[in-house]
Amino acid sequence: MSDDEPAVPVACPECETTTRIPLSDLKAGIEAHNDRLHDGEEVARIDPAIKEELTDLVAKDLELLD
Ligand SMILES: [Zn+2]
Repeated sequence: MSDDEPAVPVACPECETTTRIPLSDLKAGIEAHNDRLHDGEEVARIDPAIKEELTDLVAKDLELLD
């Protein structure tokens, strides 16, 4: 576990919450929320405002791993 792992804001319009989830847990975190609270419907999702930035971030990560 590293402290500098980027956390991604996940917005749920139905719960009116925004939760920050670490990048490595992102998919599981969103699924867990939707499973638990929304019968598996895709309600919570990555904040659209951050999505572009995230794409950059992931692209950079991939470059580093390469
Ligand atoms: Zn929700």
